[in-house]
Amino acid sequence: MQVVRPEETPDVLKASMNKGGVTSQLQQEILNVSEFHTYPAPGVLIGAFMVDYARELLGVTPERKLYGVCETPKCLPDALQVMAHCTTGNNRLKVVPIGKFAITLNTPSDGETADAVRVYVDQKKLKSYPIVDIWYANSPAFNRNTMKGQLFDEIFRAGRNILSSEKVRVTVKKKEKWFSVTCPCCGETVPDYLIEGDRCTACGSMKYYERIPING
Ligand SMILES: [Zn+2]
Repeated sequence: MQVVRPEETPDVLKASMNKGGVTSQLQQEILNVSEFHTYPAPGVLIGAFMVDYARELLGVTPERKLYGVCETPKCLPDALQVMAHCTTGNNRLKVVPIGKFAITLNTPSDGETADAVRVYVDQKKLKSYPIVDIWYANSPAFNRNTMKGQLFDEIFRAGRNILSSEKVRVTVKKKEKWFSVTCPCCGETVPDYLIEGDRCTACGSMKYYERIPING
């Protein structure tokens, strides 16, 4: 069980959100995302505002089927999974690890591309929120033991005021036809498109484990 810090309890978060003028619907979504993430990381809080903003720009309700991309594996995927229902398992979430705090969202498209909205944390706008600014820059000036509460207050006061958006076009990935192939190396089956040369990727470039001998 993770230790809950006083500033991270739902009641304290709610008080901070009320002070910042966060709507009650978004407050509930922020609490849901925090619970899924196991704690209210600043990144998931900002992520919740990003998804909320992107949905509004698309003019869609929370139930609408959406496809999402996030540009960092940190925090943001969870806001997309909980609020936009783009999950790793339903294949509507793509994580591109390029180190930017940004997402794109789009509705389904039959074409080869889809018009999407991209929402990102805008460095220029952070200047009005000094605590968020030093936290975001990973500056040693940010003390996570003493400044978390202030950071939450600023994040909730800022809401989408630290975000910007743009219209972008993304490539739509079509479902690939595939057949099953047995890897001569490990004897397990994989889709044909995941064979590289004479073996499966698990025996090749994506190898991530060594077998431990039974009597080892
Ligand atoms: Zn193999």
